[in-house]
Amino acid sequence: MSAEAPLLAVENLRTEFYTDKETVRAVDDVNFRIERGETLGIVGESGSGKSVTARSIMGLVESPGNVLPESSIRLDGEELTEKSESEYRGIRGSEVTMVFQDPLTSLNPVYTVGNQLKETLRLHRDLDGQTLTDTAIGLLEDVGIPDAARRISEYPHEFSGGMQQRAVIALALACDPELLICDEPTTALDVTIQAQILELLAEIQVERDIGIMFITHDMGVIAEVADRVAVMYAGEIVESAPVRSLYSDPAHPYTNGLLDSIPGNQPGGRELTTIEGEVPIPNGAATHCRFAPRCPKAFEECYELAPEPLPTTAGKDDHTAACLLFPEDMKREDAVDEHRAANTEGTDE
Ligand code: SF4
Repeated sequence: MSAEAPLLAVENLRTEFYTDKETVRAVDDVNFRIERGETLGIVGESGSGKSVTARSIMGLVESPGNVLPESSIRLDGEELTEKSESEYRGIRGSEVTMVFQDPLTSLNPVYTVGNQLKETLRLHRDLDGQTLTDTAIGLLEDVGIPDAARRISEYPHEFSGGMQQRAVIALALACDPELLICDEPTTALDVTIQAQILELLAEIQVERDIGIMFITHDMGVIAEVADRVAVMYAGEIVESAPVRSLYSDPAHPYTNGLLDSIPGNQPGGRELTTIEGEVPIPNGAATHCRFAPRCPKAFEECYELAPEPLPTTAGKDDHTAACLLFPEDMKREDAVDEHRAANTEGTDE
């Protein structure tokens, strides 16, 4: 475990699912890092590979799915892809935990919230007696549940939707994880409760200095929570940038399409735009830009060459786009050549 290692480093992540008819590359050569105290927002439509990326990190990809051997997922410098299932079980829930969209998938309806918290604390932190109860109450207080000493004896159905999600976050924090993966945690909540949960996550992050991977299809939510953003499309990260840079200077036509489809985001009262068509199923190595059939800027080479993530302008390494129009300070044919060269390098490795 080295001091300089990022909290999470994902490299060449490929996750495939096998069916009778085809092999689906749900995640295709995904690379990113998350530092301690940083929130990486992962955004994209349904079917873009966001949740499969999260499940791959959690070791929760089940047959007929498979994380391919060249993939690397290092948590605090430790390679997770080489862990056995029992080793992974120890990591899940203690070093990395996940909050899902529907709190009722994480809470057991037949046990009180307190019982579920205490069970987690007993298993992972070896607490018992009054310390166990006090720690469970403290966790509920930390996530803003009022009258926690009383509510600890209530069942999940006695909590409102927002309180249920707070209880799930308390469960996720019970073992003091280093990385919290939130998969659309506010999608099922109304707007005011959503804002409260986002605020809570921001407070927790500052207090505990944890890394957060926040998955959503909502560009508005990403603007609130993320330090960096990775935009996913058809299994690939098509743009990656610090959050301010992504909103002030979006590069990839898909990102522009997502931003234009946020209600109220159209300059001069322009009509809300939509991205026509659907995310394709990536069934094999990319041979061209997977966004081309939906892209308003597509040109001939887009159907012949798979773009690589390159800086949007030369030297701007923290803002990359997998689009043949970039780097934008190059002539188009030179930019295409850069992608062709990067493509060949990738094949040679
Ligand atoms: S590579 Fe071509 S088709 Fe793909 S996003 Fe860029 S311009 Fe559009």
